[in-house]
Amino acid sequence: MTIFEKRPDPREVGTDPARSAGRSINLALANRGIHALERAGLMERVRPALIPMAGRMLHDEKGALQLVPYGNKPHEVIYSVSRGGLNSLLMDAAEATGRVTIRFGQACSDVDFERRSVRVRSSEGQAVHEFPYDVLVGTDGSASAVRAAILERTGGDLDEEPLGHGYKELSIPSGPDGQFRMAKNALHIWPRGEYMLIALPNADGSFTATLFLPKSGEESFEALKTEQEVWRLFERRFADALPLLPDLEEQFFGNPTGHLETIHCRPWYFEDHALLLGDAAHAIVPFHGQGMNAAYEDCDALDGLLKQEDRPWEEIFADFQSQRLPNTDAIAAMALENYVEMRSTVREPLFQLKKEISFRLEERYPRRFIPRYSMVMFHRIPYAEAQRLGAIQAGILDELTRTATSLDQVDFALADRLIEERLPGGAEPTPRPAGEGGASSAG
Ligand SMILES: Cc1cc2nc3c(=O)[nH]c(=O)nc-3n(C[C@H](O)[C@H](O)[C@H](O)COP(=O)(O)OP(=O)(O)OC[C@H]3O[C@@H](n4cnc5c(N)ncnc54)[C@H](O)[C@@H]3O)c2cc1C
Repeated sequence: MTIFEKRPDPREVGTDPARSAGRSINLALANRGIHALERAGLMERVRPALIPMAGRMLHDEKGALQLVPYGNKPHEVIYSVSRGGLNSLLMDAAEATGRVTIRFGQACSDVDFERRSVRVRSSEGQAVHEFPYDVLVGTDGSASAVRAAILERTGGDLDEEPLGHGYKELSIPSGPDGQFRMAKNALHIWPRGEYMLIALPNADGSFTATLFLPKSGEESFEALKTEQEVWRLFERRFADALPLLPDLEEQFFGNPTGHLETIHCRPWYFEDHALLLGDAAHAIVPFHGQGMNAAYEDCDALDGLLKQEDRPWEEIFADFQSQRLPNTDAIAAMALENYVEMRSTVREPLFQLKKEISFRLEERYPRRFIPRYSMVMFHRIPYAEAQRLGAIQAGILDELTRTATSLDQVDFALADRLIEERLPGGAEPTPRPAGEGGASSAG
């Protein structure tokens, strides 16, 4: 198998932010990605590079901190991992099989489906060469050239939804002796309503912060033209982050501003010889930390289909699309919703009460009431199912919090009734923990 990769070999050039423009320095790995890595026999090599993050560490405008846990059990954490490190490990493993050759600095520019060949432009000398293929898998990301060729050839549909917000990465260096200057095992968020700053830990004691901001408007990337304007925004809205970012202005104007969008398209394949996978088929905004996880899940799903012997490629591709497309549509929508949660609603007492109630209900109904965030991050329940069940849960939580403002006011008997009605099935409930009668009116 030959992989044509547009960029130079990252194992040789390192992870200079300017070179990695458009992709984060680190990212969150969760259960779906871990499962796929386990199936590929790679997880034991990845594990030492992971930093567990147990929840969101909220930074308010006065610098007060609050940890909002992600899950309800000690193992329900997500992991910060270096993108460059993980990619290098995967490339080493692919090459070590002896069956994979990676050709760097080779950008696919077009596909000739009649001749079954791909046109590739070399970064050295800009020469274009044609390479024949038997089966072509386009994993060339959100601006995929293979997708453009498939959609042109099939007259397919492309829906590109720009978010209207961009992002800027900023590095928070480690303290003396490589110490972390904030809590290590959390994803830090400075939620500010319309926008936010986040930071994920790196193994060397540094954090990679990302500022998400509208592209235009009063408080936006467009409005930040001078060093003073950048400084003032941070002084006013992210005061406790300012001492952690000694060269803020330099980084702000030196690092690129990334673009965010959601891409829906169909078909994902052409006849029996070309297929899209990962962001090329379904790029999403990064707020659920699921783009890479979903791409790894794609690989696992395709691998499962390929193991069914004697099936024609076109049938496999069609099954892959019909299995994955409703699910990637669902995670695309949930990722957009999660932006509002991270930058705004996470601060609200009602959000936090609903989260606490969800955890209590999960303890009582461990199979029937798994909070939506947990279904996405800690389970492999199909995304579309997580979205459907999540909508039912949201209705139940709305009813339970109509009058309750704290956990001890929640009518858990009503909760039992609503769950029986709306989330039927299973041999639950488990006994309610002592003292959790709340404002129970019956049973
Ligand atoms: C700011 C940010 C934060 C994110 N955080 C997370 C996170 O925490 N967790 C998570 O799961 N996901 C996250 N994601 C999403 C994740 O980065 C993507 O979903 C994932 O990288 C998709 O993998 P891919 O291989 O499909 O595409 P990519 O990672 O984009 O890889 C495509 C590759 O193809 C190459 N290429 C592009 N065009 C061509 C061409 N014409 N010819 C040859 N090669 C080409 C590129 O150089 C690249 O190496 C984040 C994304 C962003 C932007």
